Formats: sequence, structure tokens, C-alpha cells
Amino acid sequence: MNFITKKVSFNNTAIAFSNKSDHQLKQSKWLFKIFEKSRLVNFFSKIILLLIKLKFPIDGLIKKTIYKQFCAGETIDESNEIVKKLNELKISSILDYSVEGKETTEDFENTKNEVIKIIQFAKNNSAIPYTSLKITGVASSSILEKFNSGEAVTERDQEEMNVLEERINVIAHNAFINKVPIYFDAEESWIQETIDRLAEKMMRKYNKENAIILTTLQMYRWDRLGYLKKLIDIARKEKNLIGIKLVRGAYLEKENIRAAKLGYPSPIQKTKHNTDIDFDKAITICLENIDIVKLCAGTHNEDSTQFLINEMKRLNIPNNHPHVYFSQLYGMSDNISYNLAAAGYNVTKYLPYGPVKSVIPYLIRRAEENSSISNQMGRELFHITNELKRRRGQKLLH
Ligand SMILES: Cc1cc2nc3c(=O)[nH]c(=O)nc-3n(C[C@H](O)[C@H](O)[C@H](O)COP(=O)(O)OP(=O)(O)OC[C@H]3O[C@@H](n4cnc5c(N)ncnc54)[C@H](O)[C@@H]3O)c2cc1C
Repeated sequence: MNFITKKVSFNNTAIAFSNKSDHQLKQSKWLFKIFEKSRLVNFFSKIILLLIKLKFPIDGLIKKTIYKQFCAGETIDESNEIVKKLNELKISSILDYSVEGKETTEDFENTKNEVIKIIQFAKNNSAIPYTSLKITGVASSSILEKFNSGEAVTERDQEEMNVLEERINVIAHNAFINKVPIYFDAEESWIQETIDRLAEKMMRKYNKENAIILTTLQMYRWDRLGYLKKLIDIARKEKNLIGIKLVRGAYLEKENIRAAKLGYPSPIQKTKHNTDIDFDKAITICLENIDIVKLCAGTHNEDSTQFLINEMKRLNIPNNHPHVYFSQLYGMSDNISYNLAAAGYNVTKYLPYGPVKSVIPYLIRRAEENSSISNQMGRELFHITNELKRRRGQKLLH
């Protein structure tokens, strides 16, 4: 195992964009420039949804622009080109079938089969050490919500829940026998308790010797630090391993609006600062229990990434410890991913893929996250512009 003590620079753009051509960088710059105008992003999001509803043929345009920035391809085979390219620079991939908003049994079965296909593709392939699952890809939101709410369920609801649990169990069992750990993504709070219960059940069943099932904790929720401690206590008592993906959380606005509308206390922290504090506290707790916790820090935040590096050093945890992964989304924060990988840390990129129309909700979330309400877009533009400038300087020198 490696101990690397030098500070990782997230500003080394030569490393960050080493596998991007000038043309690709200019295209990314153009896209992030559009994101600067949040009103335009809102406008375009609505227009795109409308055009899709009206069955306008806009797939080609989307595929050449925003899709190309944030998605790897329409199929596993198409995405494999990017998997290989990332692997050359010691970055591994998490293939994420990002189809959302489906509601029929046929759709759920299709997604289940696709996730099993990813597991088969990933087994014995060190370029794809994990896979992931969005529970709403294989289960209806309404049944998840009903069980979440605590309201009385009918016999039929229970039957539906048994079917969905079995669907998840088939995926988890496949992950287990093929030794490909799987992340369960976190979603909205009004379905998350049901997802938590399913994840806990699967962890109990499959995480005896290895953390095969990893659950996700959104630290923008003020109750998650307590939940993390509870999960660790249970795992210690039952002699299981647990897998934790830490994120800040992607549904902030939706959560606050719903809580205000229905008149219940928002599950979201009062300030961003509180979210940041809990995210970093959770990192420390996971590292202090690294013997039983497999941690993935899913973040684009440089301070939290640096904090994790410092904590690993403080606790004498080697930089390539098999229980510690850093993870960013494809198309974002390459300055973090590539520089960490070059310094010997375990890095994975979440690689969404799927048919253009089906990944639109995912793409809209990325566009909104990168629009001017956050400073993420500023960070991306800053690094891309610097790299283009650096390359121009290099060309002048030669
Ligand atoms: C590999 C990976 C996997 C992911 N998986 C999931 C997942 O399963 N489920 C999910 O929900 N998200 C997921 N995300 C998205 C994630 O939750 C964040 O939305 C995104 O990464 C931005 O947060 P950040 O840590 O990168 O950094 P930052 O840019 O520092 O933080 C932005 C985040 O801070 C929080 N925040 C902003 N303002 C406030 C405020 N006023 N009060 C409280 N909190 C605030 C929000 O969560 C916001 O997204 C994933 C992200 C990555 C990189």
C-alpha cells in the first residue's frame, strides 16, 4: 500500500484534462457558459421536456451537446470506450443506468436486467469495481412512498412490495455471487426510509465478508449523522460490514418546497455550512471505523476532498486503502478526479448511460446544479479556461 504525503493540487489542469482535445475543451467551455445563465437553463429545461412530450426529434441535438458532456453512451458497449480511456489514467468507472421516471412492471424488469448485465460486464474487470442502482428505476415511487408514510397498507400493496423486494434481492444476489459491490443511490426523503430499510436488509444478508451492498447518506439532512452512527453500531453488533456513499444531496429545493407546502419541518439542514460540517464529521466517523466501513466520498467539493486526504493521513490510512474511494460524476470536477488518481488514491467516475430521452431528468439536474445558483459552474469554467490558456502559451513557445 502507498503512503503519499505530498499535497494534491486540484489546480493542475495539464493532468486534469490530459485526455481532452482542444476541441473537446472548447465544447465544454461553451456548454458551461450557457449554464451561467440560470434563467436560460430553466427555460431550456421546460422547452426540452415539452418537445419530448410532443415527440419532436431532438435526440440528435441533445446527444451532441449536454449528453456528450455528462453521459458515456446509450449502451454498455458504447460506454466502454470511455471506461477504457479513464482506466488508462487509473480512474475506474461506475456504470450507472440512468433511466428515470419509469412506472410499469415491464420498465422495472428491463432496468433490473440491465443492472444485471452491468454486473456481468464488471465482474473480473478492474476498470469497473462497482455498480449502482437507483431504487426508483426498479420500483414505483408511489409504493415506496406509501410504505414510507406509515399509513395502512392493503394486501395488494404488500404483494407489490414483496415483488419489488424480490427484484432488488435478485440484483443484490447477482452482485454478491459475482463480487461486484453495488451502491444504492439516495433519493427524496418521502421514499428514502423505505429505501433505507431495503438497503439495511440487503446489507445484513450479503455483507458478511465483504461490503457488497453500499447505501447512500445525504448529509444535507440533519438526521443522517445519527443514522450513520446507528448503522455502524448495528454492523458491529451483528458482525457485518457496511458500505457508505457520502453525498451532500441532490433534491434540496424539492425537499424544502414540499415541506413548506405540506407544513412539516424540512429534513434539510438550516444552512450549507451545517451540511458541510456534517459531511466532514461523517468522513471522520467512517475512517475511524474503516475496519468495517467501506467509504465512497461522492463529492465535487475541494475542501471536503482535502479534508478526507488529511484525515487519512492523520489516521495512518494508506492512500489506496481498498475501503476508501473518491468519486465524481462524469463530466464534472476532472481537476479533482485526475489529480487524485495521479497521486495514487482510488478514484471512480460515476458514468451515467442510457437512451437519450430516458436520461433527460438526470441531465436537467446536472444543468441546474451547474447553473449560476451554485459556484460549481464557476469552478468548471475556471479550470477549462486556464487549461486552454496554458495550451495556447505552450503553442507560442514551440
Ligand atoms: C459520485 C456521486 C454520486 C452521487 N450520488 C447521489 C445520490 O445517490 N443521491 C443524491 O441525492 N445525490 C447524489 N449525488 C449528488 C450530490 O448529492 C450533490 O448534489 C453534488 O455532488 C453537489 O455536492 P458537492 O458535495 O459536490 O459539493 P458542493 O457544491 O459544495 O455542495 C452543494 C450541495 O450542498 C448542499 N447545499 C447547498 N445549499 C444548501 C443549503 N442552503 N442548506 C443545506 N445544504 C445545502 C446541497 O446538497 C448541494 O447539492 C452524487 C454525487 C456524486 C459526485
